[in-house]
Parts: sequence; C-alpha cells; structure tokens
Amino acid sequence: MIGDTIAAVSTPYGKGGVALLRVSGPEAVALCETVFLPAGGERLAALEARRATYGRILAPDERGEWHSVDDGIVTVFRAPASFTGEDTVEICCHGGILLTETVLSALFCAGARPAEAGEFTRRAFLNGKLGLSSAEALGSLLEARTREQLSLAHAGMHGKVEAASQEIYASIRRILASIYAGIDYPDEDLGEMSREEMEEAFLHCQERIEALVRTYRTGHAIAEGIPTVICGRPNVGKSSLYNRILGREAAIVTDVEGTTRDILTETVPMGRVTLRLSDTAGLHDTENTVEQIGIERARTVLANAELVLAVFDGARSVTEEDLALVRELEGLSATVIAVLNKADRGECTDPFYGAHFAHTVSVSAKTGEGMDALAAKVEALFTDGDLDVGRDAVLANARQYSSALSALEAIRRAISAMREGLPVELCCTDAELAMSALSELDGRAISEDIVSEIFSHFCVGK
Ligand code: GDP
Repeated sequence: MIGDTIAAVSTPYGKGGVALLRVSGPEAVALCETVFLPAGGERLAALEARRATYGRILAPDERGEWHSVDDGIVTVFRAPASFTGEDTVEICCHGGILLTETVLSALFCAGARPAEAGEFTRRAFLNGKLGLSSAEALGSLLEARTREQLSLAHAGMHGKVEAASQEIYASIRRILASIYAGIDYPDEDLGEMSREEMEEAFLHCQERIEALVRTYRTGHAIAEGIPTVICGRPNVGKSSLYNRILGREAAIVTDVEGTTRDILTETVPMGRVTLRLSDTAGLHDTENTVEQIGIERARTVLANAELVLAVFDGARSVTEEDLALVRELEGLSATVIAVLNKADRGECTDPFYGAHFAHTVSVSAKTGEGMDALAAKVEALFTDGDLDVGRDAVLANARQYSSALSALEAIRRAISAMREGLPVELCCTDAELAMSALSELDGRAISEDIVSEIFSHFCVGK
C-alpha cells in the first residue's frame, strides 16, 4: 500500500564491506531520527538533502533500550527528488549479516514496515519517476549477464522505448485532433488535414510502429534469449557442442549411445545474443523405454524452439539416420542450422547438407574451431546489425512487443478504413485503440495485475 513507510536492505544478503538500507515513505525522516544520530548532533530533518552525513546507528536491545550498534553514513532525499519520489533515507552501515539485520529490525521498531519485492521501484513508477518499460529495464539491468544485455537495459532504463512510443502517440493525437475539429466545427476552416494528408500521417505512424515492432527480434534474442535446441543422432557430438558453447562440462560426453536422457537447459551468451540452450537425447529408434521418454521430450522442446542446431558427424558419410533427422526437422517453424561437427578430422565437403539446409557451419566441438563462425551465423539470423541497442529504442520483452503489435494492428485498421472511403470518424476508434496500446507499452495505462506481475520479479530492496 502506498502511503506507509517501507524499509529494506538494498544490498545483497551476505557479508560485505558496507550494506545499504533504504527507507521510503512520508515518515522516513521522522522514524530514522530514532535510528541515526548525526555526529554533529543535528536532527535528520535539519540535514541538507542529498548530502552524506556521518554518525551513529542505534538499535534497541532485548529490554527495548536503544544503544549505538555501528557508525555509518546517512543521506536524506526529499520528495519528489528521490528514486521513489517520496521522502527517502539511505543508511550505510558496515556489511555484517547480523549487524545489517539489527539495523533493519531497528527501522521496523521505529515504525517502518518491511518492503515487498520491487516495492521501491513500484513506488517510483506509481509516482511517475520512471515509466514501466524503464522499470522493466531496471530489472533487466540487475539481471544482465552479457554486455549486450547491459547496453539494452541501460538504454531502456533511460526511457528510449517510452520516448519512441510517446512520440508516435503524440503524432496520432495530432491527427485525431484535426479530425475532431473538422467534426465539431464543420463549417469553419480550422486548417484541418485533408483525407490524403491524414492517410499519409497515419501511414507514417504505421511505419514508425513497424520499425519498433521489428526491434523485438533483436531485443528478444539479447534480453530474453532464443529458445535453442541441439539435436542429432547419437554420438555426433551434441553434448560436446553443448559443453563447448557453455564453456564448461555440463553434459556427459561418452561413446555410449543414449547417455543424455534428461533435457538440460542453460542460458548462455553466444556472440551478441543469448541462447536458452537445451541439449536433448539423440533422436533415433530405440527399444529402451527411458530413452524413448527422452526422445519424446526432445520432440516437444523441438516444436517450441526458435533455433535448432542440428548436429551431424561431418567426418562420416551420411547415413539413413541423418536423412531421417532431416525429414523430422522439415516441419519445424524454427530456424535450423546444420552443424557439421568433428571438422578437426577433416573438412566436410558432402553436398548433402547444402542441399537440405539453408544454413550450414563446420565446427569442431573438440577443438573449438568454427565456433566463431557459428556465433556470427546466429547473430546474423537473429539480430538487426543496424540497430544500436545501447542508443536505439529496442523492445526487450514479450509484454512490450504485444502492446506494440496491438498498436500496429489498430493503426492498420484505421488506414484500411480510410482507404475504403469510410467516414473519417470511423477511423478514429481504431486510432484511439492504437493510442491506448501505446500507453500500455510505456505503462501510462496498464492494469494493476500486470504492474504487480512485473514488480514481483524484483528482489526485496529494489
Ligand atoms: P552425443 O551423443 O551426440 O552427445 O555425442 P558426444 O558429445 O557424447 O560425443 C560422442 C563422441 O564424439 C565422444 O567420444 C566425443 O569425444 C567425440 N567428439 C565430439 N565432438 C568431437 C569433435 O569435434 N571432434 C572429434 N574428433 N571428436 C568429437
């Protein structure tokens, strides 16, 4: 509930040099008076905002008597000039686990309530300090594991997506204003747009939404990761390739067929993109029931994959089983790359692969040769090289994408209504729907459920 004062430790749980506790809400300063005593004896309420002040930190003992437990630094932020937009106090103490817990308990004794996961950021959002896609980007910034994810999150946090969606929103609003002026004051020349000009302006908005929608391919590949499956017949080197991409031994490599039965999935960077990589059981006919279950599971993940790395033993001639795999892959919607493994035993020159696959790469999972070419191939297939993820507006999650798609569909309907010669008023409903989808994209108009869902993924203290 907004309105009360919350507190949490904002640094990770554990022993560290320093820990930071954050208190936010109308009573933040008043209740911290009990917990922090500036060395100069001033009251916190009298401190200059956004200036670090040294002092003593106090906490109650079992008898309820308050004693000094540590020395630390306090910084007071006054609403609205704080992260949450509310009065906020940040206290830095030494980073001992018991010490940090003691200071936090002291804040609770003084009247704060424990913050829920993501509650500080949620308050910042509700107080208009940052848009929803910026808040999402902030979450991604904390989760980022690759440089590309970091750049993308950084740009998102600075409101690139919001700015782009708001610009398009404003353009549509201008067109609508002109249409409504024409409807309300039909006899006056208010300089409203002609039908052609309106269509032209809508088309321009459509192009901009389309461009935004297209960025999701790159944003998804970098931020969310491409669901990727390694498949192939037994012993071609699937597990070796999996381990090579991961850079460590996660899957068991043996000469015995059918050793991988469970599906291992890991998130791993490859070049600029991120793979959500699954290693599967070798696809082949088997009497072994456990193995059959593994193969069935492999088929299910294959059906949901966006990228399939179909591994072949390039050092051996093509077999019936290879042909069976090619057939199995034909019906898939995923992009398939034929990975011709064991290149260390000699370059594979069999025309079979080129004839059946649009993309082939020769690698050696054993030596690592060809892995850069594989990464470059995946990057080229899944990202837009012209996009600068650190500067451009890039949609980074499915929620943003789906709002942008709704906006696009609505604006397309508005345009086709214009083209069919329907009265302009009839285009307005769709144009308004496009505007509301754009508001959803940046979070200005979004349901409470979605907001809760987004912030529930944050950690406490964020
Ligand atoms: P999987 O059954 O498809 O998962 O295949 P594994 O990764 O378990 O490998 C099967 C065998 O092929 C093992 O003996 C590996 O050491 C060997 N192997 C895998 N990749 C390569 C490679 O690139 N070059 C060579 N020479 N041997 C490989």
